[in-house]
Amino acid sequence: MKKIDEAEIERLGLEFEKKTPQEIIRFALDKYGNRVSFASSFGAEDVAIIDMITKIKPGVRVFTLETGYLFPETHDVIKRIKEKYNIKLETYAPSTTVEEFERQYGKLYETDPDKCCAIRKIEPLNRAIADNLDAWITGIRRDQSPTRANTKKVEVDKKFNLVKFNPIADWISEKVWNYIRKNNVPYNVLHNKNYPSIGCAPCTKPVKSGEDPRAGRWAGKEKTECGLHTSK
Ligand code: SF4
Repeated sequence: MKKIDEAEIERLGLEFEKKTPQEIIRFALDKYGNRVSFASSFGAEDVAIIDMITKIKPGVRVFTLETGYLFPETHDVIKRIKEKYNIKLETYAPSTTVEEFERQYGKLYETDPDKCCAIRKIEPLNRAIADNLDAWITGIRRDQSPTRANTKKVEVDKKFNLVKFNPIADWISEKVWNYIRKNNVPYNVLHNKNYPSIGCAPCTKPVKSGEDPRAGRWAGKEKTECGLHTSK
Protein backbone atom coordinates (compact mmCIF):
# COMPACT_ATOMS: atom_id res chain seq x y z
CA MET A 1 0.00 0.00 0.00
CA LYS A 2 1.41 3.41 -0.95
CA LYS A 3 2.41 5.70 1.88
CA ILE A 4 1.11 9.26 2.07
CA ASP A 5 3.02 11.97 3.94
CA GLU A 6 0.12 13.21 6.04
CA ALA A 7 2.07 16.06 7.68
CA GLU A 8 3.04 17.39 4.26
CA ILE A 9 -0.56 17.25 3.02
CA GLU A 10 -1.76 19.05 6.14
CA ARG A 11 0.83 21.78 5.58
CA LEU A 12 -0.22 22.10 1.93
CA GLY A 13 -3.86 22.25 3.01
CA LEU A 14 -3.13 25.45 4.93
CA GLU A 15 -0.96 26.87 2.15
CA PHE A 16 -3.54 26.10 -0.57
CA GLU A 17 -6.32 28.02 1.17
CA LYS A 18 -5.14 31.19 -0.57
CA LYS A 19 -4.38 29.58 -3.93
CA THR A 20 -6.60 29.69 -7.01
CA PRO A 21 -8.18 26.50 -8.39
CA GLN A 22 -5.82 26.69 -11.35
CA GLU A 23 -2.76 26.87 -9.11
CA ILE A 24 -3.95 23.85 -7.15
CA ILE A 25 -4.76 21.86 -10.29
CA ARG A 26 -1.35 22.73 -11.76
CA PHE A 27 0.36 21.54 -8.59
CA ALA A 28 -1.61 18.26 -8.66
CA LEU A 29 -0.77 17.62 -12.32
CA ASP A 30 2.93 18.51 -11.89
CA LYS A 31 3.34 16.33 -8.82
CA TYR A 32 1.27 13.29 -9.80
CA GLY A 33 1.28 13.36 -13.61
CA ASN A 34 -0.52 10.32 -14.94
CA ARG A 35 -1.25 9.07 -11.42
CA VAL A 36 -3.87 11.72 -10.74
CA SER A 37 -7.32 11.71 -12.29
CA PHE A 38 -10.35 13.97 -12.13
CA ALA A 39 -13.50 12.23 -10.87
CA SER A 40 -16.37 13.74 -12.81
CA SER A 41 -20.12 13.24 -12.64
CA PHE A 42 -20.50 16.16 -15.08
CA GLY A 43 -22.40 18.45 -12.72
CA ALA A 44 -21.83 22.22 -12.90
CA GLU A 45 -18.71 22.15 -10.73
CA ASP A 46 -17.21 19.29 -12.70
CA VAL A 47 -17.66 20.81 -16.15
CA ALA A 48 -16.05 24.04 -14.88
CA ILE A 49 -13.06 22.05 -13.61
CA ILE A 50 -12.76 20.14 -16.90
CA ASP A 51 -12.52 23.52 -18.64
CA MET A 52 -9.77 24.60 -16.22
CA ILE A 53 -7.87 21.31 -16.41
CA THR A 54 -7.81 21.09 -20.18
CA LYS A 55 -6.64 24.72 -20.45
CA ILE A 56 -3.74 23.90 -18.11
CA LYS A 57 -2.81 20.59 -19.69
CA PRO A 58 -4.70 18.75 -22.44
CA GLY A 59 -4.95 14.98 -22.10
CA VAL A 60 -5.30 14.84 -18.32
CA ARG A 61 -7.04 11.72 -17.02
CA VAL A 62 -10.76 12.07 -16.30
CA PHE A 63 -12.95 9.24 -15.08
CA THR A 64 -16.65 8.80 -14.45
CA LEU A 65 -18.85 6.18 -12.84
CA GLU A 66 -21.61 4.93 -15.13
CA THR A 67 -24.17 3.35 -12.81
CA GLY A 68 -26.63 2.60 -15.61
CA TYR A 69 -29.14 4.92 -13.97
CA LEU A 70 -27.92 8.26 -15.35
CA PHE A 71 -30.31 10.77 -16.92
CA PRO A 72 -30.32 11.07 -20.74
CA GLU A 73 -29.41 14.74 -20.16
CA THR A 74 -26.26 13.60 -18.34
CA HIS A 75 -25.27 11.40 -21.29
CA ASP A 76 -25.88 14.40 -23.50
CA VAL A 77 -23.57 16.73 -21.56
CA ILE A 78 -20.89 14.00 -21.42
CA LYS A 79 -21.01 13.82 -25.21
CA ARG A 80 -20.82 17.60 -25.61
CA ILE A 81 -17.92 17.92 -23.13
CA LYS A 82 -15.98 15.09 -24.79
CA GLU A 83 -16.41 16.76 -28.17
CA LYS A 84 -15.46 20.24 -27.01
CA TYR A 85 -12.44 19.30 -24.86
CA ASN A 86 -11.32 16.16 -26.65
CA ILE A 87 -10.98 14.24 -23.39
CA LYS A 88 -10.48 10.50 -23.32
CA LEU A 89 -13.00 9.64 -20.66
CA GLU A 90 -12.32 6.54 -18.55
CA THR A 91 -15.69 5.02 -17.72
CA TYR A 92 -16.13 2.55 -14.89
CA ALA A 93 -19.37 0.57 -14.71
CA PRO A 94 -20.73 -2.13 -12.41
CA SER A 95 -20.32 -5.77 -13.45
CA THR A 96 -24.05 -6.18 -14.08
CA THR A 97 -26.46 -4.38 -16.38
CA VAL A 98 -29.43 -2.63 -14.80
CA GLU A 99 -31.68 -5.46 -16.04
CA GLU A 100 -29.52 -8.16 -14.43
CA PHE A 101 -29.18 -6.10 -11.26
CA GLU A 102 -32.92 -5.51 -10.91
CA ARG A 103 -33.65 -9.18 -11.63
CA GLN A 104 -31.48 -10.03 -8.64
CA TYR A 105 -32.34 -7.19 -6.25
CA GLY A 106 -35.45 -5.42 -7.53
CA LYS A 107 -35.42 -1.64 -7.03
CA LEU A 108 -32.53 -1.64 -4.56
CA TYR A 109 -32.26 2.16 -4.78
CA GLU A 110 -35.62 2.22 -2.96
CA THR A 111 -35.15 -0.62 -0.49
CA ASP A 112 -31.44 -0.25 0.33
CA PRO A 113 -29.82 2.73 -1.43
CA ASP A 114 -26.55 2.34 0.51
CA LYS A 115 -26.15 -1.17 -0.89
CA CYS A 116 -27.14 0.04 -4.35
CA CYS A 117 -24.45 2.77 -4.24
CA ALA A 118 -21.93 0.27 -2.88
CA ILE A 119 -22.48 -2.04 -5.85
CA ARG A 120 -23.05 0.47 -8.63
CA LYS A 121 -20.71 3.30 -7.55
CA ILE A 122 -18.17 2.33 -4.92
CA GLU A 123 -17.09 -0.99 -6.42
CA PRO A 124 -16.42 0.62 -9.83
CA LEU A 125 -14.67 3.50 -8.02
CA ASN A 126 -12.38 1.04 -6.29
CA ARG A 127 -11.43 -0.32 -9.70
CA ALA A 128 -10.77 3.22 -10.97
CA ILE A 129 -8.45 3.85 -8.03
CA ALA A 130 -6.70 0.53 -8.41
CA ASP A 131 -5.75 1.66 -11.93
CA ASN A 132 -2.56 3.36 -10.75
CA LEU A 133 -3.98 6.37 -8.95
CA ASP A 134 -2.14 8.15 -6.16
CA ALA A 135 -4.38 11.20 -6.11
CA TRP A 136 -7.72 12.42 -7.35
CA ILE A 137 -9.29 15.78 -8.06
CA THR A 138 -12.93 16.47 -7.22
CA GLY A 139 -15.42 19.29 -7.66
CA ILE A 140 -16.89 19.22 -4.16
CA ARG A 141 -17.66 22.51 -2.40
CA ARG A 142 -18.00 23.27 1.30
CA ASP A 143 -21.41 24.87 1.09
CA GLN A 144 -23.02 21.94 -0.74
CA SER A 145 -23.88 20.16 2.50
CA PRO A 146 -22.92 19.99 6.21
CA THR A 147 -20.95 16.80 5.47
CA ARG A 148 -18.71 18.79 3.10
CA ALA A 149 -18.32 21.90 5.29
CA ASN A 150 -14.81 21.00 6.50
CA THR A 151 -13.42 20.01 3.12
CA LYS A 152 -9.82 21.17 2.62
CA LYS A 153 -8.39 22.10 -0.75
CA VAL A 154 -6.00 19.20 -0.39
CA GLU A 155 -6.41 16.43 2.14
CA VAL A 156 -5.66 12.80 2.78
CA ASP A 157 -8.54 10.60 1.69
CA LYS A 158 -8.11 7.81 4.20
CA LYS A 159 -11.02 5.81 2.90
CA PHE A 160 -9.40 5.30 -0.50
CA ASN A 161 -5.77 5.94 0.52
CA LEU A 162 -5.35 8.80 -1.95
CA VAL A 163 -4.39 12.44 -1.87
CA LYS A 164 -7.55 14.36 -2.66
CA PHE A 165 -7.54 17.79 -4.30
CA ASN A 166 -10.71 19.89 -4.00
CA PRO A 167 -9.67 23.05 -5.87
CA ILE A 168 -13.04 24.85 -5.67
CA ALA A 169 -13.88 23.82 -2.10
CA ASP A 170 -14.40 27.45 -1.10
CA TRP A 171 -16.46 28.49 -4.14
CA ILE A 172 -20.16 29.27 -3.87
CA SER A 173 -22.59 28.17 -6.57
CA GLU A 174 -22.76 31.65 -8.11
CA LYS A 175 -19.02 31.62 -8.72
CA VAL A 176 -19.31 28.27 -10.51
CA TRP A 177 -22.05 29.61 -12.77
CA ASN A 178 -20.15 32.82 -13.48
CA TYR A 179 -17.21 30.69 -14.59
CA ILE A 180 -19.44 28.49 -16.80
CA ARG A 181 -21.04 31.49 -18.52
CA LYS A 182 -17.80 33.43 -18.94
CA ASN A 183 -16.03 30.43 -20.47
CA ASN A 184 -19.00 29.12 -22.43
CA VAL A 185 -18.74 25.68 -20.82
CA PRO A 186 -21.38 23.09 -21.85
CA TYR A 187 -23.53 22.03 -18.89
CA ASN A 188 -26.32 19.61 -18.01
CA VAL A 189 -29.64 21.19 -19.08
CA LEU A 190 -31.31 19.72 -15.98
CA HIS A 191 -29.62 22.54 -14.07
CA ASN A 192 -32.08 24.87 -15.84
CA LYS A 193 -34.97 22.83 -14.41
CA ASN A 194 -34.21 23.18 -10.68
CA TYR A 195 -31.76 20.30 -10.41
CA PRO A 196 -28.75 21.92 -8.68
CA SER A 197 -27.24 18.50 -7.89
CA ILE A 198 -27.59 15.63 -10.35
CA GLY A 199 -26.95 11.96 -9.68
CA CYS A 200 -28.81 8.83 -10.74
CA ALA A 201 -32.31 9.41 -12.15
CA PRO A 202 -34.23 7.30 -9.58
CA CYS A 203 -32.56 9.18 -6.69
CA THR A 204 -32.60 12.77 -7.96
CA LYS A 205 -35.51 15.19 -7.86
CA PRO A 206 -35.75 18.92 -8.57
CA VAL A 207 -35.61 21.18 -5.50
CA LYS A 208 -37.99 23.94 -4.48
CA SER A 209 -36.90 27.54 -4.05
CA GLY A 210 -34.92 27.99 -0.81
CA GLU A 211 -34.28 24.28 -0.33
CA ASP A 212 -30.81 22.87 0.28
CA PRO A 213 -29.10 22.29 -3.13
CA ARG A 214 -28.73 18.60 -2.36
CA ALA A 215 -32.31 18.21 -1.03
CA GLY A 216 -33.27 16.51 -4.28
CA ARG A 217 -30.77 13.69 -3.76
CA TRP A 218 -32.36 10.63 -2.09
CA ALA A 219 -35.29 12.90 -1.15
CA GLY A 220 -37.31 11.53 1.77
CA LYS A 221 -34.44 9.29 2.91
CA GLU A 222 -31.77 9.86 5.55
CA LYS A 223 -29.06 9.23 2.97
CA THR A 224 -27.25 12.37 1.74
CA GLU A 225 -24.06 11.00 0.16
CA CYS A 226 -23.28 8.08 -2.12
CA GLY A 227 -20.08 7.23 -0.24
CA LEU A 228 -17.49 8.75 -2.59
CA HIS A 229 -16.90 11.73 -0.36
CA THR A 230 -17.51 10.37 3.12
CA SER A 231 -14.93 9.12 5.60
CA LYS A 232 -16.68 5.74 6.11
S1 SF4 B 1 -27.62 7.04 -6.53
FE1 SF4 B 1 -29.44 5.72 -6.39
S2 SF4 B 1 -29.52 4.49 -8.29
FE2 SF4 B 1 -27.48 5.47 -8.15
S3 SF4 B 1 -26.20 3.91 -7.26
FE3 SF4 B 1 -26.93 5.18 -5.55
S4 SF4 B 1 -28.87 4.28 -4.81
FE4 SF4 B 1 -28.33 3.34 -6.80
